[in-house]
Amino acid sequence: MEFVKNELKNIIVIGTGGTIAGTGEAGKTISYQSGQIEVNDLVSGVDDLKDIANVTSKELLSVDSCDITEEDWIHLANYINEMAEDEDIDGFVVTHGTDTLEETAFFLNLTVKTSKPVVITGSMRPSTAMSPDGPFNLFQAVALARSEESIGKGVLVAFSDAIYGARDIQKVNTYRTAAFSHRDLGSLGYIRDDEVYFYNSSTKRHTFNSEFDVSNISELPYIGIAPFFASADVKILDYFHENTQGVVLSGAGCGGCSSVWDKRIKELMASGFPVVRSSRIANGLVTSEYTTQKGIFSNTLSPQKSRILLALALTKTNDMDSISHIFNVY
Ligand code: ASP
Repeated sequence: MEFVKNELKNIIVIGTGGTIAGTGEAGKTISYQSGQIEVNDLVSGVDDLKDIANVTSKELLSVDSCDITEEDWIHLANYINEMAEDEDIDGFVVTHGTDTLEETAFFLNLTVKTSKPVVITGSMRPSTAMSPDGPFNLFQAVALARSEESIGKGVLVAFSDAIYGARDIQKVNTYRTAAFSHRDLGSLGYIRDDEVYFYNSSTKRHTFNSEFDVSNISELPYIGIAPFFASADVKILDYFHENTQGVVLSGAGCGGCSSVWDKRIKELMASGFPVVRSSRIANGLVTSEYTTQKGIFSNTLSPQKSRILLALALTKTNDMDSISHIFNVY
């Protein structure tokens, strides 16, 4: 990659589509199509970027983030890992749809092998809305990616003036521009214009300390999510047992479920089929301390993040105690 030679940091913006690249009826925020504008045009549309960094762009995908696949995650992680070896490159920004942003962020947090900043952003309003949030989010994402303070913090998300960590971020609103939070863990800090203010960082293992390596794999073990609800049929678990390589229970409360489901989960675990107990509840812990039921516990990871960690864990081990350990450290 060719960058201008000056004192500014060199940042690559990687496009994947999403609402930030979406277009629709002028002025409206609904009925638009994601992934219509090339990342190059997103970058050139924010003139102030040239004052804070030397930015180049690369379009890897142009989709609604609900269409992103695990193969796309692997491709993205390997692209960043390859580019991170270039000493001229100081950091990365990924533009992404918000619907599965937290999943891509967590996958990259576990598979990117650099301490250089990797920041994801997106928008809730398409580029053709009356007041689109994408340009400012992109500006703040570049501001975060060029910051010395972002080095070694794991994959970050810049969204609506806040800094989030990939492990804990979750989309919590379907349409407001402040669509993300860390749930009851707060956030990592704030961004005001291009000034970055960190107050917290994750204590969990990530990026350059992660043991997971996707450089030589083309697909992940496929993991399902089984939703428990009052009167849920145990055949739901049997479906996943027959069709996947592991399952995450989206349980009630602290990863709870009915006695029939509980018995089936114990049988599946005893047969070597991994089941991670997670929760449909937005806040709090799922650990063995809070239940008498044995198994692998998601800690504070949501079901959709637990399935990513289980898939990566299975690339390393099939031993249930080792998988449990992985869920405690990541
Ligand atoms: N459906 C869109 C996407 O995830 C939503 C968004 O970007 O806000 O691509």
